[in-house]
Amino acid sequence: MTHLEIAGVAVDTRHFIGGERVASESTFTNTSPIDGSFLGEIARGGQSEIDAAVAAARGAFAGWSRTAPTERAAVLHRIADLVEQNLETLGMIETMDNGALLRSHLRGVMPRVAHNFRFFADYLVNDLGHPDFETRGHNNSVSWDPSGVAALITPWNAPLMLATWKIAPALAAGDTVVLKPAEWTPLTASFFADLTKQAGLPDGVFNVVQGYGKEAGAALVAHPGLSRISFTGSVPTAKAIARAAADNLTPCSFELGGKSPLIVLDDADLELAADLAVEQYDNAGQVCLSGTRLLVHSSIAAAFTEAFRAKVESLRQGDPRDPETDIGPQVHAIHFDRIRGFVDRAVAEGANIPIGGSPNGELGGLYFRPTLVNNPTPGSEIVSQEVFGPVLTMQTFETDDEALEMANGTEFGLAAVVVSGDREHADRITRHLVAGTIWVNCFFVRDLRAPFGGSKKSGVGREGGTWSFDFYADVKNTVVSPNGWKE
Ligand code: NAD
Repeated sequence: MTHLEIAGVAVDTRHFIGGERVASESTFTNTSPIDGSFLGEIARGGQSEIDAAVAAARGAFAGWSRTAPTERAAVLHRIADLVEQNLETLGMIETMDNGALLRSHLRGVMPRVAHNFRFFADYLVNDLGHPDFETRGHNNSVSWDPSGVAALITPWNAPLMLATWKIAPALAAGDTVVLKPAEWTPLTASFFADLTKQAGLPDGVFNVVQGYGKEAGAALVAHPGLSRISFTGSVPTAKAIARAAADNLTPCSFELGGKSPLIVLDDADLELAADLAVEQYDNAGQVCLSGTRLLVHSSIAAAFTEAFRAKVESLRQGDPRDPETDIGPQVHAIHFDRIRGFVDRAVAEGANIPIGGSPNGELGGLYFRPTLVNNPTPGSEIVSQEVFGPVLTMQTFETDDEALEMANGTEFGLAAVVVSGDREHADRITRHLVAGTIWVNCFFVRDLRAPFGGSKKSGVGREGGTWSFDFYADVKNTVVSPNGWKE
């Protein structure tokens, strides 16, 4: 099998190496989380496919790295054009593959894929730079040079968006790329590879190897031919990658999990707070940045819970292809069982679950009801570990200090949301929160110029704007003397 078909569109199931399609002897099965239907058999890469892909990327590096920035930017814009022309196809393939809402793919996610390319193309040409400076008459000038082959390893929760958030700056920086997509969602990366070829990206500059993390992924990150590893995924995998990268001292950027707080202060607009809390169920709760721990001032907890409950009850759960659906299925049966395990153990510990708490029996399959766990045992796993499903916890506090202690009291530090009607009060809280991104009276406002990453176990490094180029490129300072010139 070389292709599968989704909504009349053929998607190649093989690797993309050196601009060619390459099969593997073995395959793995891909099913749709919507209804468990069989989608196809996907090439299962390992050491030899990784060796071939890294060799292709290394071979293409000399040409791509010397391509003028304006020309690299032009190719990136052509890729963005093709993404926009194939928006509906990409959206439907991704929805069938990971179960996320088609509505979200069409309105936000796939346009953002195109934007990733336009943004880094324009940033390279117009914004990347540092003013020259002088040292005792010598001129210092800073440049960002291509570094080599970037290995990119990505998760399943927003597969193409998260992959292109790395592919676009790596290509803009003049690096060549080997991507290993998540095994639960291999399809849009494969379709996208064809678009890069159509856009005129030279063969070998972008490669995709499909396969399992412990096979293709592990072979990739241990490869001595890499200049960078950028990984988005879980903390345990990041530790394994860091160990593998250590042998070659390959620099790593890690974007990891979270257990972010959403703090509702006593002066908050309750309707806004409830709306923001409901947004945390977005993508069936499979969002790294979600504010999954609701920390609510005790004086407003009852009123907040009622406003929140009314909004949750109006959410429609169902087929993610239906534009009326608000919550679709979880990505995979293994992940569904993991979420259910967290909730069942919280119940066994005596947790109070006023909303949801079980699979949606009417829909069957992988649909888990949006759930609220009220007043969980402090320090229990449901308030300290990432569930990555439609499961929020709620705890109350009396003072700002108590709120901050709870908010900062996990090993994660990816994001935080603060809801308040008083700017000074909000400032007093945000100043002491430990997180890479903080939203005040809003959620998920993302600007690609902003630094993005996590504190504590939520990540290593920052990407976005210049921070992305700082990672993917070799930053160089050239010092030129005023002496010794023959003119
Ligand atoms: P995961 O760590 O299990 O897998 C991520 C990727 O790593 C997959 O492609 C997998 O095949 C690969 N992999 C697994 N073992 C590997 C190994 N030994 N060597 C190399 N690669 C290996 O994570 P997941 O379950 O796919 O994704 C969910 C996690 O991702 C959550 O923790 C979530 O918070 C996190 N995430 C973080 C961000 C962020 O920007 N911070 C964004 C999205 C998701």
